[in-house]
Amino acid sequence: MEDIEILRSDLITCRHGFSTRLGGVSGGIFESLNLGANRGDPIENVLENWRRFGAAVGADTARFVHGRQVHGAEVRVVGRTDAHSISDPTPWEGADGYVTAEPDVPLAVFTADCTPLLMQDPTAGVIAAVHCGWRSTVADIEKNAVAAMVGLGARRSDIWAAIGPGIRRCCFQTGPEVPAAIDALLGGDSAGLYGPDEDAPGKFRVDLPGAVRRRLLQLGLREENIDELGVCTMCHPDRFWSHRAMGAARGSQANLIVL
Ligand SMILES: [Zn+2]
Repeated sequence: MEDIEILRSDLITCRHGFSTRLGGVSGGIFESLNLGANRGDPIENVLENWRRFGAAVGADTARFVHGRQVHGAEVRVVGRTDAHSISDPTPWEGADGYVTAEPDVPLAVFTADCTPLLMQDPTAGVIAAVHCGWRSTVADIEKNAVAAMVGLGARRSDIWAAIGPGIRRCCFQTGPEVPAAIDALLGGDSAGLYGPDEDAPGKFRVDLPGAVRRRLLQLGLREENIDELGVCTMCHPDRFWSHRAMGAARGSQANLIVL
């Protein structure tokens, strides 16, 4: 059995981790660390994978905050009563980010190319987990997440952010609507974040993690407080789940943080 592999940021001081696809018990197209329920993988495998991932992070993941993600901009402020098992249905309509100031309430978002963002204000004791696909990003979920943290006592200059594994410019080919929406989000401050795809007329290559970073800077985070792991999920299908590489027949990464 292979060891579980998780990634961490040197900036974040509380318990956290970005999963890979390595070290779980699932088989077939879900081999081996699939952390997503309702993908067709037997739930007992998903539960065991979550137990292993939680153990690697140092968190009890029998209950944690997670739910259906809808590529929107809603961020929920949550607490102990919002935590539930991975085998339970989502108790709310759908959200793409969670914020808490309560200890021992793990927050998780699922990704398989979209940019995962974990944040922490270590002084105020506030954390966030955010699912930053391009649609959520251009809908300004980063603004909502930072505002929710500030609402719980965080200071923008004290927020540390870690951008985890996701699709990067090397692989993220889009039509013109994605760069246009990023331009609009950033008020034109998008130099270097995209360019024409040399191999495909009319297509672009987009640096989505870079856009998330640029938006966080605009929102008042400090450059030195933003860490980017710099790993592309689509470039490494042996190590990560990638929606673009695999389509719907795949598992999911999870990105977990807990005070
Ligand atoms: Zn790539």
